[in-house]
Amino acid sequence: MKYARTELHLHLDGSLNILWAYKKSLERKAIDENMTFQEFYDILFSINLLEHKESLKKFDITCDCLQYYEDLFEATYLLATQLDDMGIYYAEIRFASQQHCKKGLSQLEALQAATDGAAKAMKERKIKIGIINCLMHKGDSAKENDKENRETIRVTKEMLGKGVVGLDLAGYENNCDLNEYAYLFEIARNEGIPYTIHAGEMGNGENVMKALAMKPQRIGHGVNCIQKDEWVKAVIDAGMTLEVCLSSNTKRDRNYAAHPIRQLIEKGVKVTINSDNMMFSNTNNLQEHYILSMLGVGEKELRQCTLNAIDASFADEATKEYLKERIALLDKE
Ligand SMILES: [Zn+2]
Repeated sequence: MKYARTELHLHLDGSLNILWAYKKSLERKAIDENMTFQEFYDILFSINLLEHKESLKKFDITCDCLQYYEDLFEATYLLATQLDDMGIYYAEIRFASQQHCKKGLSQLEALQAATDGAAKAMKERKIKIGIINCLMHKGDSAKENDKENRETIRVTKEMLGKGVVGLDLAGYENNCDLNEYAYLFEIARNEGIPYTIHAGEMGNGENVMKALAMKPQRIGHGVNCIQKDEWVKAVIDAGMTLEVCLSSNTKRDRNYAAHPIRQLIEKGVKVTINSDNMMFSNTNNLQEHYILSMLGVGEKELRQCTLNAIDASFADEATKEYLKERIALLDKE
C-alpha cells in the first residue's frame, strides 16, 4: 500500500510479537512455568475486547514481561525493525515508563532502554523512530499517581531530543474527569515538551473539547467528536490532527462501516492512520490502509493522511523534510 509510511499512534506493550511475549514471560517468571502458549493466548484474548476497561487488563500482562532493560530494549528494537520491513518511514512508539519499574528499573532507565532499542534499529535501517512517554490515568483520581506522572514528565524532559519526542496521556479515559490532568500538561507546556492526549476514544466526544483546551499538538483517537457538529468544527478550527486507529476502535465486532473516519475526512478534519496495538488489534499499518481503501477512501486522501502525519509528527524539521522528500519520490512511482 503506497502511502502506508507513517505510524504516530502505536503502543509498544500492545504491539509485541505474541510468541516473543510468551517466551519472555516464561523466562522472567511473569507467568506460571507450566502455562502453555495456548493458555497464554487464551488469557490475553479471552478478556472482553468489547469492554474497554476490561480489555486494558491485557496491558498488565504484557507490561509484566517488560520489566528489565534488555527486554524493553529488545521489544523496541524488534518492533522498529518490523515496521521498517513493512516499509514504514517514520514511527512514534509510545509506552509508559512508570509501568516498567516493578523490578527495580527507574523511569529514566526504562525510557533509556526504549530509546537505545530504537537507536539500534535506526543505525541498521532507514526508519526514523521517536519515543513518546505516556502519563497514566489510574484509579478514580489524578491524585492517585501524581508522583509517578510528575516523574514521567521529568524524565521525558531529560530525554527530549535524545530519542524521546513527546508525551501522551493513556489509560482508561473514563476513570475521572479528563480536566483533572490539565495541570500536568501545563507543566509539560512550560517545559517545552510536545504532547498528544488520548481523548474521545471510549469517552464522550466532549473529552475532545477538554483535550483541545489543554493545547496538545495532536489528539489520540478523538473520533467521538463526530457526536456533535460543533465539536467537529472546533477540531477543524483548532487545526487539530487526529490519530485515528480504525481496527482498535471497532474492536472484535469489526464494524468498519460504522466508523466515522470517512465522515471526518469529508468534513475536513486532519486525520492520520494508525494501528494502536498491533498484537491486540491483530493489525498493522498496511492493513489499516487496505481497510480504508475498501471503505472507499481514495489514494489522494490516503496520501494526504500521510502528509498530515508528517506535519503533525514530533520529529524535527530536518526529519520532516527528509520524510517529505521520500514521499515525493513515491509520488513519481
Ligand atoms: Zn492508544
